[in-house]
Amino acid sequence: MLSNLLEQKVPQPEISTKKMPHPELSIVIPAYNEEPNVDELCSRLLAVLEATHRTFEIVVVNDGSRDHTLGKLLQWREKYPSLFRILDFNSNFGHHNALWAGFEHIRGDWVISMDADLQTPPEEIPKLLEKIDQGYDYIGSWRLGKRQDAKWRDWASKIDNRFRSRITDIRMTDQGCMLRAYKRSIVDAIIHCGDYTAFIPALAYKFAARYTEIGMQHAPRFRGKTKYGLYYLLRTHFDLMTGFSLVPLQVFTLFGFALSGGCFLLVLYMIGRRIFLGPEAEGVFTLFTILFLMVSVAIVGIGLIGEYVGRTYQIVQGRPRYILRQLYDTQPKS
Ligand code: UDP
Ligand code: MG
Repeated sequence: MLSNLLEQKVPQPEISTKKMPHPELSIVIPAYNEEPNVDELCSRLLAVLEATHRTFEIVVVNDGSRDHTLGKLLQWREKYPSLFRILDFNSNFGHHNALWAGFEHIRGDWVISMDADLQTPPEEIPKLLEKIDQGYDYIGSWRLGKRQDAKWRDWASKIDNRFRSRITDIRMTDQGCMLRAYKRSIVDAIIHCGDYTAFIPALAYKFAARYTEIGMQHAPRFRGKTKYGLYYLLRTHFDLMTGFSLVPLQVFTLFGFALSGGCFLLVLYMIGRRIFLGPEAEGVFTLFTILFLMVSVAIVGIGLIGEYVGRTYQIVQGRPRYILRQLYDTQPKS
Protein backbone atom coordinates (compact mmCIF):
# COMPACT_ATOMS: atom_id res chain seq x y z
CA MET A 1 0.00 0.00 0.00
CA LEU A 2 2.72 2.41 1.07
CA SER A 3 5.03 1.51 -1.74
CA ASN A 4 2.11 1.98 -4.16
CA LEU A 5 1.61 5.47 -2.85
CA LEU A 6 5.29 6.28 -3.08
CA GLU A 7 5.44 5.05 -6.63
CA GLN A 8 2.37 7.00 -7.72
CA LYS A 9 3.13 9.27 -10.62
CA VAL A 10 2.23 12.83 -9.87
CA PRO A 11 2.89 15.53 -12.47
CA GLN A 12 5.90 17.57 -11.37
CA PRO A 13 6.00 21.11 -12.72
CA GLU A 14 9.16 22.62 -14.13
CA ILE A 15 10.28 25.14 -11.54
CA SER A 16 13.33 27.36 -11.39
CA THR A 17 15.27 26.34 -8.28
CA LYS A 18 17.64 29.25 -7.77
CA LYS A 19 18.31 30.04 -4.11
CA MET A 20 16.03 32.64 -2.62
CA PRO A 21 17.23 34.06 0.69
CA HIS A 22 14.39 36.54 0.87
CA PRO A 23 11.36 35.44 -1.14
CA GLU A 24 8.18 37.47 -1.58
CA LEU A 25 5.93 34.67 -0.34
CA SER A 26 6.28 32.04 2.36
CA ILE A 27 3.61 29.37 2.26
CA VAL A 28 3.18 27.73 5.68
CA ILE A 29 1.47 24.34 5.87
CA PRO A 30 0.97 22.22 9.01
CA ALA A 31 0.75 18.53 8.19
CA TYR A 32 -0.24 15.68 10.45
CA ASN A 33 -0.62 12.24 8.89
CA GLU A 34 -1.14 13.68 5.42
CA GLU A 35 0.92 11.15 3.46
CA PRO A 36 -1.77 10.49 0.82
CA ASN A 37 -2.14 14.24 0.18
CA VAL A 38 1.48 15.37 -0.02
CA ASP A 39 2.14 14.70 -3.71
CA GLU A 40 -1.07 16.29 -4.94
CA LEU A 41 -0.56 19.25 -2.60
CA CYS A 42 3.04 19.94 -3.63
CA SER A 43 2.41 19.48 -7.31
CA ARG A 44 -0.65 21.76 -7.44
CA LEU A 45 0.90 24.33 -5.12
CA LEU A 46 4.12 24.58 -7.15
CA ALA A 47 2.15 24.99 -10.38
CA VAL A 48 0.07 27.81 -8.89
CA LEU A 49 3.02 29.59 -7.30
CA GLU A 50 5.16 29.38 -10.41
CA ALA A 51 2.36 31.00 -12.41
CA THR A 52 2.29 33.99 -10.03
CA HIS A 53 5.84 35.00 -11.12
CA ARG A 54 6.70 35.82 -7.51
CA THR A 55 9.57 34.35 -5.55
CA PHE A 56 8.42 31.93 -2.90
CA GLU A 57 9.34 29.25 -0.38
CA ILE A 58 7.18 26.47 1.04
CA VAL A 59 7.53 25.80 4.77
CA VAL A 60 5.87 22.54 5.78
CA VAL A 61 5.65 21.55 9.43
CA ASN A 62 5.44 17.84 10.02
CA ASP A 63 3.49 17.75 13.27
CA GLY A 64 4.66 14.37 14.58
CA SER A 65 3.01 12.36 11.79
CA ARG A 66 2.99 8.60 12.29
CA ASP A 67 2.74 7.80 8.61
CA HIS A 68 5.27 8.65 5.86
CA THR A 69 4.35 12.31 5.51
CA LEU A 70 7.94 13.32 6.29
CA GLY A 71 9.45 10.88 3.79
CA LYS A 72 7.18 12.21 1.05
CA LEU A 73 7.99 15.80 1.91
CA LEU A 74 11.70 15.09 1.86
CA GLN A 75 11.35 13.63 -1.64
CA TRP A 76 9.92 16.96 -2.80
CA ARG A 77 12.63 18.84 -0.99
CA GLU A 78 15.26 16.73 -2.66
CA LYS A 79 13.87 17.77 -6.02
CA TYR A 80 13.47 21.47 -5.12
CA PRO A 81 15.90 22.05 -2.21
CA SER A 82 15.75 25.82 -2.33
CA LEU A 83 11.95 25.94 -2.36
CA PHE A 84 11.07 23.60 0.48
CA ARG A 85 11.91 24.02 4.12
CA ILE A 86 10.66 21.18 6.29
CA LEU A 87 10.26 21.38 10.06
CA ASP A 88 9.96 18.04 11.76
CA PHE A 89 8.41 17.96 15.26
CA ASN A 90 9.32 15.13 17.59
CA SER A 91 5.65 14.52 18.42
CA ASN A 92 2.20 15.94 17.79
CA PHE A 93 1.77 19.50 19.12
CA GLY A 94 -1.43 20.49 17.30
CA HIS A 95 -2.42 22.47 14.25
CA HIS A 96 -1.91 25.99 15.60
CA ASN A 97 1.41 25.23 17.28
CA ALA A 98 2.61 23.82 13.96
CA LEU A 99 1.47 27.01 12.25
CA TRP A 100 3.28 29.03 14.92
CA ALA A 101 6.50 27.11 14.31
CA GLY A 102 6.17 27.74 10.58
CA PHE A 103 5.75 31.47 11.28
CA GLU A 104 8.95 31.43 13.32
CA HIS A 105 10.88 30.01 10.37
CA ILE A 106 9.69 32.03 7.40
CA ARG A 107 11.87 34.33 5.33
CA GLY A 108 9.26 35.90 3.07
CA ASP A 109 7.67 39.35 3.06
CA TRP A 110 4.22 37.77 3.09
CA VAL A 111 3.03 34.57 4.68
CA ILE A 112 0.19 32.48 3.31
CA SER A 113 -1.18 29.75 5.57
CA MET A 114 -3.10 26.79 4.24
CA ASP A 115 -4.02 23.19 5.11
CA ALA A 116 -2.29 20.13 3.73
CA ASP A 117 -5.47 18.24 2.85
CA LEU A 118 -6.37 20.51 -0.09
CA GLN A 119 -9.64 21.64 1.49
CA THR A 120 -8.29 25.13 0.91
CA PRO A 121 -7.34 24.75 -2.77
CA PRO A 122 -3.99 26.31 -3.75
CA GLU A 123 -5.69 27.59 -6.92
CA GLU A 124 -7.37 30.24 -4.72
CA ILE A 125 -4.03 31.83 -3.75
CA PRO A 126 -4.11 34.42 -6.59
CA LYS A 127 -7.20 35.95 -4.93
CA LEU A 128 -5.06 36.65 -1.87
CA LEU A 129 -2.30 38.14 -4.01
CA GLU A 130 -4.78 40.59 -5.55
CA LYS A 131 -5.66 41.85 -2.06
CA ILE A 132 -2.00 41.96 -1.05
CA ASP A 133 -1.39 44.30 -3.97
CA GLN A 134 -4.24 46.53 -2.78
CA GLY A 135 -2.35 47.37 0.44
CA TYR A 136 -4.05 45.26 3.11
CA ASP A 137 -1.85 43.79 5.82
CA TYR A 138 -3.98 40.78 6.76
CA ILE A 139 -6.35 38.97 4.45
CA GLY A 140 -8.80 36.41 5.77
CA SER A 141 -11.31 34.27 3.97
CA TRP A 142 -14.63 32.56 4.32
CA ARG A 143 -15.78 29.32 2.78
CA LEU A 144 -18.01 29.87 -0.26
CA GLY A 145 -21.07 27.68 -0.71
CA LYS A 146 -21.70 24.63 1.39
CA ARG A 147 -18.95 23.66 3.76
CA GLN A 148 -17.39 20.34 2.72
CA ASP A 149 -17.31 18.77 6.17
CA ALA A 150 -19.60 16.81 8.47
CA LYS A 151 -22.90 18.64 9.11
CA TRP A 152 -22.29 19.04 12.84
CA ARG A 153 -19.00 20.81 12.06
CA ASP A 154 -20.86 23.31 9.89
CA TRP A 155 -23.37 24.09 12.65
CA ALA A 156 -20.69 24.19 15.35
CA SER A 157 -18.62 26.66 13.36
CA LYS A 158 -21.68 28.87 12.61
CA ILE A 159 -22.59 29.02 16.31
CA ASP A 160 -18.98 29.60 17.22
CA ASN A 161 -18.52 32.43 14.71
CA ARG A 162 -21.67 34.14 15.98
CA PHE A 163 -20.77 33.72 19.64
CA ARG A 164 -17.24 34.95 19.10
CA SER A 165 -18.44 38.09 17.31
CA ARG A 166 -20.75 38.83 20.28
CA ILE A 167 -18.22 38.49 23.07
CA THR A 168 -15.01 39.67 21.40
CA ASP A 169 -14.22 42.57 19.13
CA ILE A 170 -12.91 40.24 16.43
CA ARG A 171 -14.94 40.71 13.27
CA MET A 172 -14.14 37.74 11.05
CA THR A 173 -16.83 35.97 9.06
CA ASP A 174 -15.24 32.55 9.25
CA GLN A 175 -12.39 32.05 11.67
CA GLY A 176 -11.94 28.41 10.63
CA CYS A 177 -10.92 29.03 7.01
CA MET A 178 -7.13 28.78 7.09
CA LEU A 179 -6.23 30.08 3.63
CA ARG A 180 -5.03 33.48 4.80
CA ALA A 181 -2.29 35.98 4.02
CA TYR A 182 -0.29 37.82 6.70
CA LYS A 183 2.17 40.63 6.15
CA ARG A 184 5.59 39.98 7.67
CA SER A 185 5.10 42.70 10.31
CA ILE A 186 1.93 40.95 11.56
CA VAL A 187 3.73 37.62 11.75
CA ASP A 188 6.58 39.23 13.70
CA ALA A 189 4.08 40.81 16.10
CA ILE A 190 2.40 37.42 16.64
CA ILE A 191 5.54 35.47 17.41
CA HIS A 192 6.97 38.13 19.71
CA CYS A 193 3.83 39.01 21.64
CA GLY A 194 4.25 36.33 24.34
CA ASP A 195 0.55 35.43 24.15
CA TYR A 196 -0.05 31.78 24.76
CA THR A 197 -3.26 31.63 22.74
CA ALA A 198 -3.16 29.05 20.05
CA PHE A 199 -5.58 30.91 17.85
CA ILE A 200 -3.43 32.64 15.27
CA PRO A 201 -6.13 34.07 12.93
CA ALA A 202 -7.68 35.99 15.85
CA LEU A 203 -4.32 37.20 17.13
CA ALA A 204 -3.43 38.48 13.66
CA TYR A 205 -6.74 40.35 13.55
CA LYS A 206 -5.76 42.16 16.77
CA PHE A 207 -2.50 43.35 15.24
CA ALA A 208 -3.69 44.18 11.73
CA ALA A 209 -4.27 47.77 10.64
CA ARG A 210 -5.98 46.92 7.34
CA TYR A 211 -7.94 43.68 7.38
CA THR A 212 -10.13 42.37 4.61
CA GLU A 213 -11.73 39.03 3.72
CA ILE A 214 -12.58 37.15 0.56
CA GLY A 215 -14.74 34.16 -0.30
CA MET A 216 -12.78 31.00 -1.10
CA GLN A 217 -13.81 27.75 -2.71
CA HIS A 218 -13.80 24.94 -0.21
CA ALA A 219 -13.16 21.37 -1.30
CA PRO A 220 -13.76 18.12 0.52
CA ARG A 221 -10.64 16.67 2.14
CA PHE A 222 -8.57 15.16 -0.73
CA ARG A 223 -7.70 11.96 1.19
CA GLY A 224 -7.52 10.78 4.79
CA LYS A 225 -9.59 11.79 7.80
CA THR A 226 -10.00 15.05 9.72
CA LYS A 227 -7.90 15.36 12.87
CA TYR A 228 -10.45 17.60 14.59
CA GLY A 229 -12.69 15.63 16.92
CA LEU A 230 -15.37 17.23 19.08
CA TYR A 231 -13.03 17.53 22.09
CA TYR A 232 -10.27 19.23 20.07
CA LEU A 233 -12.81 21.69 18.64
CA LEU A 234 -14.24 22.50 22.07
CA ARG A 235 -10.73 23.13 23.40
CA THR A 236 -9.97 25.49 20.55
CA HIS A 237 -13.22 27.38 21.09
CA PHE A 238 -12.64 27.76 24.83
CA ASP A 239 -9.18 29.00 24.05
CA LEU A 240 -10.59 31.56 21.64
CA MET A 241 -13.23 32.76 24.09
CA THR A 242 -11.01 33.09 27.11
CA GLY A 243 -8.00 34.25 25.13
CA PHE A 244 -9.72 37.24 23.59
CA SER A 245 -12.39 38.28 26.01
CA LEU A 246 -13.11 38.76 29.69
CA VAL A 247 -16.84 38.85 28.93
CA PRO A 248 -17.50 35.26 30.15
CA LEU A 249 -16.00 36.16 33.54
CA GLN A 250 -17.86 39.47 33.70
CA VAL A 251 -21.19 37.90 32.70
CA PHE A 252 -20.67 35.26 35.34
CA THR A 253 -19.89 37.85 38.03
CA LEU A 254 -23.01 39.85 37.10
CA PHE A 255 -25.07 36.69 37.15
CA GLY A 256 -23.57 35.85 40.56
CA PHE A 257 -24.62 39.29 41.86
CA ALA A 258 -28.17 38.90 40.53
CA LEU A 259 -28.43 35.40 41.95
CA SER A 260 -27.18 36.39 45.40
CA GLY A 261 -29.64 39.33 45.38
CA GLY A 262 -32.48 36.92 44.58
CA CYS A 263 -31.29 34.44 47.22
CA PHE A 264 -31.11 37.22 49.82
CA LEU A 265 -34.75 38.16 49.12
CA LEU A 266 -35.69 34.49 49.33
CA VAL A 267 -33.99 34.18 52.72
CA LEU A 268 -35.90 37.27 53.99
CA TYR A 269 -39.12 35.71 52.74
CA MET A 270 -38.36 32.38 54.44
CA ILE A 271 -37.55 34.14 57.76
CA GLY A 272 -40.79 36.18 57.56
CA ARG A 273 -42.77 33.08 56.67
CA ARG A 274 -41.28 31.19 59.60
CA ILE A 275 -42.10 34.00 62.04
CA PHE A 276 -45.66 34.62 60.88
CA LEU A 277 -46.80 31.24 59.54
CA GLY A 278 -44.51 28.81 61.34
CA PRO A 279 -41.95 26.37 59.84
CA GLU A 280 -42.85 24.71 56.56
CA ALA A 281 -42.02 21.13 55.74
CA GLU A 282 -43.52 20.60 52.28
CA GLY A 283 -41.49 23.36 50.69
CA VAL A 284 -38.28 21.46 51.32
CA PHE A 285 -38.00 20.29 47.73
CA THR A 286 -38.35 23.81 46.40
CA LEU A 287 -35.36 24.69 48.51
CA PHE A 288 -33.44 21.73 47.21
CA THR A 289 -34.17 22.77 43.64
CA ILE A 290 -32.92 26.25 44.33
CA LEU A 291 -29.87 24.81 46.04
CA PHE A 292 -29.10 22.54 43.08
CA LEU A 293 -29.43 25.48 40.71
CA MET A 294 -26.99 27.51 42.74
CA VAL A 295 -24.51 24.64 43.07
CA SER A 296 -24.56 24.00 39.32
CA VAL A 297 -24.04 27.68 38.56
CA ALA A 298 -21.13 27.71 41.02
CA ILE A 299 -19.58 24.70 39.29
CA VAL A 300 -19.81 26.40 35.90
CA GLY A 301 -18.19 29.46 37.43
CA ILE A 302 -15.35 27.50 38.95
CA GLY A 303 -14.75 25.86 35.57
CA LEU A 304 -14.72 29.24 33.89
CA ILE A 305 -12.24 30.68 36.34
CA GLY A 306 -10.24 27.48 35.92
CA GLU A 307 -9.93 28.25 32.19
CA TYR A 308 -8.32 31.59 32.91
CA VAL A 309 -6.16 30.19 35.70
CA GLY A 310 -5.11 27.37 33.38
CA ARG A 311 -4.06 29.85 30.71
CA THR A 312 -2.05 31.84 33.24
CA TYR A 313 -0.49 28.61 34.51
CA GLN A 314 0.62 27.68 31.01
CA ILE A 315 2.25 31.06 30.53
CA VAL A 316 4.02 30.83 33.91
CA GLN A 317 5.27 27.34 33.10
CA GLY A 318 6.81 28.69 29.93
CA ARG A 319 6.93 25.30 28.25
CA PRO A 320 7.89 25.28 24.60
CA ARG A 321 5.01 25.21 22.14
CA TYR A 322 6.76 22.52 20.17
CA ILE A 323 10.00 20.55 20.02
CA LEU A 324 11.78 20.47 16.73
CA ARG A 325 13.50 17.21 15.93
CA GLN A 326 15.06 18.53 12.77
CA LEU A 327 14.94 21.47 10.44
CA TYR A 328 15.58 20.52 6.83
CA ASP A 329 16.87 23.79 5.59
CA THR A 330 20.33 23.65 4.09
CA GLN A 331 21.11 22.58 0.56
CA PRO A 332 21.83 18.84 0.51
CA LYS A 333 25.35 17.69 -0.42
CA SER A 334 25.56 16.99 -4.13
N1 UDP B 1 -3.03 19.35 11.61
C1 UDP B 1 -1.82 19.40 12.29
N2 UDP B 1 -1.76 18.91 13.56
C2 UDP B 1 -2.85 18.38 14.19
C3 UDP B 1 -4.08 18.37 13.50
C4 UDP B 1 -4.14 18.87 12.22
O1 UDP B 1 -0.81 19.87 11.75
O2 UDP B 1 -2.71 17.93 15.33
C5 UDP B 1 -3.10 19.88 10.24
C6 UDP B 1 -3.67 18.91 9.22
O3 UDP B 1 -2.67 18.07 8.69
C7 UDP B 1 -4.23 19.86 8.18
C8 UDP B 1 -4.72 21.04 9.03
O4 UDP B 1 -4.00 20.97 10.25
O5 UDP B 1 -3.24 20.31 7.30
C9 UDP B 1 -6.21 21.00 9.29
O6 UDP B 1 -6.54 19.75 9.87
P1 UDP B 1 -7.86 18.94 9.45
O7 UDP B 1 -7.98 18.91 7.96
O8 UDP B 1 -7.82 17.62 10.13
O9 UDP B 1 -8.99 19.87 10.09
P2 UDP B 1 -10.42 20.23 9.45
O10 UDP B 1 -10.18 20.68 8.04
O11 UDP B 1 -11.23 18.99 9.52
O12 UDP B 1 -10.92 21.34 10.34
MG1 MG C 1 -9.26 19.74 6.60
